[in-house]
Amino acid sequence: KNYTKESILKSAKEFDVRYVRLQFSDMLGTVKNVEIPITNLERALNNDIMFDGSSIQGFVRIDEADMYLYPDLSTWLILNWENAPVGRVARLICDVYTSSKKPYEGDPRYVLKKALNEMKSLGFDKFNVGVEPEFFLFKLDEKGKITRELSDQGGYFDLAPMDGSEDIRRDIVLEMQKLGFEMEVSHHEVAFGQHEINFHFDNALEACDNIQTFKVLVKNVARRHGYHATFMPKPIKGINGSGMHSNLSLSKDGRNVFFDEKTDNQLSETALKFIAGIMKNAQAFTLVCNPIINSYKRLVPGYEAPVYIAWSDSNRSTMIRIPASRGNATRIEVRSVDASANPYLAMAVLLNSGLDGIKNDLTALNPLKKNLFRMSEQERRRLGIKNLPENLKEAIEFFQKSELMKETLGEELFEKFIEAKQKEWDEYKTIISEWELNKYLPII
Ligand code: GLU
Ligand code: MG
Ligand code: MG
Repeated sequence: KNYTKESILKSAKEFDVRYVRLQFSDMLGTVKNVEIPITNLERALNNDIMFDGSSIQGFVRIDEADMYLYPDLSTWLILNWENAPVGRVARLICDVYTSSKKPYEGDPRYVLKKALNEMKSLGFDKFNVGVEPEFFLFKLDEKGKITRELSDQGGYFDLAPMDGSEDIRRDIVLEMQKLGFEMEVSHHEVAFGQHEINFHFDNALEACDNIQTFKVLVKNVARRHGYHATFMPKPIKGINGSGMHSNLSLSKDGRNVFFDEKTDNQLSETALKFIAGIMKNAQAFTLVCNPIINSYKRLVPGYEAPVYIAWSDSNRSTMIRIPASRGNATRIEVRSVDASANPYLAMAVLLNSGLDGIKNDLTALNPLKKNLFRMSEQERRRLGIKNLPENLKEAIEFFQKSELMKETLGEELFEKFIEAKQKEWDEYKTIISEWELNKYLPII
C-alpha cells in the first residue's frame, strides 16, 4: 500500500502490466476511467494525463473542460479478473485536478477529504467505515440481456440446494482476496436471489475506494457466471430491498472514542453526540445516501429497511442501530444508506452530520426499545420521531434547505446535485405506470 512511483513502475514490469485504468467517480458515484498503455504510465504518475471533464456528470462546464488526473499511488492494484489480449491490467484511483492544477472541488473524493480534514481539526484522526452491501442476481439470457429471473429460491442464511448461488459468492470472495481485500462473511440474504458480502472496515477514503472496486468486481464476476448483479435498492415489489448498512466510528490515537466502559451502555458522550447529529441531519442527507427514485421504494415499513428517524441498541426497525460489539469495535450502524449512493459523498455527509452533533453538543434522545413498525403514528409523534423523506422530491426539498449539506458538498456540486435530481424527478413524474393503468382504467 505504500507505493512510490518507482515501486509502481517496478511492479508493472514484474507482473507484465500492459494497460492501466485511471479511475475516478462522477457525481452520482459511477466509476469512470481512461485507460493508458503501459508506455504512458510514467507520465500518468507525474500527474500529466488530461481528460475532458465536460462530459462527466457533475464535472466542469464546457468552457473549462480540461482536467488532470492525479493518481493516488496507494491505490495501485492489478486487476486479476480482467483478461487482456496480452499482459495484465492495473488500475489507479485518481484525484481530479483543474486545468490550473488545483484540486477540483466537485470531485467526490475531494469532498470526503475535506470532511476528513474537518474531523482532524476537531482532534479525531480516523473515521472508520464498514459497509454491508446487499445485491440481487438476475439471470442473463443467451444474448447477455438481463432477464427478470432470479438466481435462486433461497432465503436468509440458506444452504444449497435452496441457495443456488454460493459458487458465485465464493468466486467473488476469492477474487476479492486475490486483490488483497480482507473478507469477513458472505451469505444469502432474506429475499430470493439476494446476497450480502462483507469486507473489513477501513478509513473512510480507503473504504469508499473499496466499495467502488467491490461493485465493479461483483458485476464482472456475476457476468462470468451468466448473471447480472444489481445494487438497485428495490428491484422487486413485495420483498426485501437491498441496503448498504454503514458502520461508523471515530478514533483517536488508535482508540475508538465511541467506547466508554464507564457508562451504562458503554457508549461515550462523543458517540451520543454523533448519533444526535446524524438524527438531526437525517432528512437533509437522505438525498445523498438514497439518491434515486427507487431508493424510496425500499424505505417503507415491513422490509427491515428504516422509515423513521430513531436509534436503538438492537432494534432493527430504527434508522440507527448499535451493534452489540464494544471496545475497539464499538460503532453505530446507519441502516438507511443504499448502494446507489456515491460512497464518497455519502460518507462525507454522514461524517459532517455526526460532527455537527459533536460541535454543537447535541444530546441524543433515549434509545428506542419498541418496534417502531408496531407503533401508531400518534405515538411516534408524541415521542418526537420524524420520518425519513418519502420520495425523491421530498428529499430534494430537505437537502436544499440545509446549510450543512451545502458546505459539505461545496456550492457548485450542491447546485449540480439538486439540478440532476430535480431532472430525474421531473422525468419520473410524467410516467404512467402499469399500476395506474390497472387501477384506474377499468373504473374511471
Ligand atoms: N435488506 C434490508 C434493507 O433493506 C436489511 C436486512 C439486514 O438487516 O441485513 O436494509
Ligand atoms: Mg443484510
Ligand atoms: Mg446490518
